[in-house]
Amino acid sequence: MSFLPSPDRDVFSARPVPNALTVDVEDYYHVSAFEGQVDRTRWSEYPGRVKENTEQLLAIFRRRQVRATFFILGWVAQHDPDLVRQIQAEGHELGAHSFWHQRIYTQLPDAFREDLVRSRDLLTQLTGQPVRCYRAASFSITPACWWALEILVQEGFQYDCSVFPIWHDRYGVPEAPVGIYRVETPSGSIWEFPPAVYQIAGLKVPCGGGGYFRLYPLGLTLWLLRAIRRQGRPFLFYLHPWELDPQQPRLPGSLLSRFRHYWNLSATARRLEELLDQFLFAPVSEVVEEYLRQKEGHIEVLRLGDLGKLAEKGLKTVIQPLGGVQS
Ligand SMILES: [Zn+2]
Repeated sequence: MSFLPSPDRDVFSARPVPNALTVDVEDYYHVSAFEGQVDRTRWSEYPGRVKENTEQLLAIFRRRQVRATFFILGWVAQHDPDLVRQIQAEGHELGAHSFWHQRIYTQLPDAFREDLVRSRDLLTQLTGQPVRCYRAASFSITPACWWALEILVQEGFQYDCSVFPIWHDRYGVPEAPVGIYRVETPSGSIWEFPPAVYQIAGLKVPCGGGGYFRLYPLGLTLWLLRAIRRQGRPFLFYLHPWELDPQQPRLPGSLLSRFRHYWNLSATARRLEELLDQFLFAPVSEVVEEYLRQKEGHIEVLRLGDLGKLAEKGLKTVIQPLGGVQS
């Protein structure tokens, strides 16, 4: 493998479209992998580390003058409002990551809406800004709960990053597109920007952050992300503050969950710095808007009803000009 300098500039002839950098602001005891062992009503009893770990991320981003989208768990925002204000003050985009970190496909629509509105209103109250971006806990918008996308539209969200186009035991929609697309619902449309997946023929390789970033050799991750850029599209990268914290308390759980959560935590910060050296990054909304400008509005569109049929008959999409960036 060889890595060329400034790879993004080889892909787009005009101003390069950056990639999306995203952070899910939650603590080590919030993650879905341990929810069977950690009772939500006892979250307050665990020693909190999210503030220090998020501040470490903010310092890295500040040094490199990079801005990101921070999807903040409502529970964290309620317990540490100053952290929310600090993220905002440093120029980052704020998104919602639910209030209670429940997987959407385990919820009924009314419960999802209630949790969504609670987290949205809290962030709006703290920042004075509308919240337009959403990521579900554990990428849990799947065929079992496509209705969530329409509720997001109804509650004012414009960007969702919750549909992971791969197979995984806790999430994933293998038939979903790997690039940015627009979902049309009866209540309006929403942009979907999935985590980075490199696709060649029928093969899909997730490479957008989290455990994949810690598990793969760094060179492989960089090669896959560069290959996505060569396919002419930006990618979305995600990570969590606890992934930079090798000292975090260990929780009981299955061998697989513990492996995924604790593997190679000591490498994350160094790897992140290398990643930031190699690629341009920006918040989600800015990447989508810049990408649309350069594609002149020609972008995949899926109707909500078609999403429901994905697994049955494969993907049905239309490419159509939007006449500019939709809001
Ligand atoms: Zn999460």
